Amino acid sequence: MSELHKFIFEGLPVRGMLVRLTDSWRQVLQRRAASNDAFPAPVRALMGEMAAAGSLMQANIKFNGALVLQVFGDGPVKLAVAEVQNDLSFRVTAKVVGDVAPDAQVEALLNVHGKGRCAITLDPKDRFPGQQPYQGVVSLHGDRREPLQKISEVLEHYMLQSEQLDTRLILAANDEVAAGLLIQRLPVEGAGNLGRSNEDEIGVNEAYNRISLLASTLTREELLTLDADTLLRRLFWEETLRRFPPLVGDDGPRFACTCSRGRVGRMLIGLGRPEVDDIVVEQGRAEIGCDFCGAQYHFDAVDVGELFTPTPQQAPGSQSIN
Ligand SMILES: [Zn+2]
Repeated sequence: MSELHKFIFEGLPVRGMLVRLTDSWRQVLQRRAASNDAFPAPVRALMGEMAAAGSLMQANIKFNGALVLQVFGDGPVKLAVAEVQNDLSFRVTAKVVGDVAPDAQVEALLNVHGKGRCAITLDPKDRFPGQQPYQGVVSLHGDRREPLQKISEVLEHYMLQSEQLDTRLILAANDEVAAGLLIQRLPVEGAGNLGRSNEDEIGVNEAYNRISLLASTLTREELLTLDADTLLRRLFWEETLRRFPPLVGDDGPRFACTCSRGRVGRMLIGLGRPEVDDIVVEQGRAEIGCDFCGAQYHFDAVDVGELFTPTPQQAPGSQSIN
């Protein structure tokens, strides 16, 4: 079963989290394979890593809404999206055009011309009218403009830039497991105060650097195959870890799609009646498939008529009236 583990290093301003997406991740891949449209292996790995990273970031900030990781690419992958709700349910998809080399990493998948971008969006659950979701955007390059090859490096960069938080992120995915380890330095109270000695600062840095270095010795093989207890023991056996009850089942990471007939209907209303009528005339009905879960939604002429008929509850001036 998919699981997320949180822990802190006793007495040190460092926390960590480990996620293993197993059944939920396989469900994502099976749905896609069932529609005869399986993603190439490097894209599956990218999506798995993004799903693991999104779960870690959402569990880390506990944002009341959706955390959305999007990478806009200029290579064969035009878009990859992982969306994680605050109950840790997630969905993930990608849009691929053209061939993908079997060993392709971030640069070859998404940043062929250096124009790839990664956007992290926090979309509040109950947005008040006019409220915009928060969004941060980073390029797929490091500090020296070198193209990054791993999505974990892109996200580490983002967290340092936007939140000023030192973070070590290790991700891996195959067709069975998508997993990730996050180690983060906690903001220290009173940091920057004049009364603070340099020695305190050095001690704090040393603790984080040591733990982060231990984390980076984790191999892909270990991350994908070891259970949480074995993995944490093997990496941090010299540290004092305080662990919290793992988040599993209904409290843990799981696959769920937020698509619905109502949402698809609202999307069609957004397109406008003439456009939708054209589709129905040409194709007999409007067929919309969900890229995340594969669900198919059909709207025939009668459905479309109903869709564009204003109901008494509808606010005046909403798009469906014209
Ligand atoms: Zn869906």
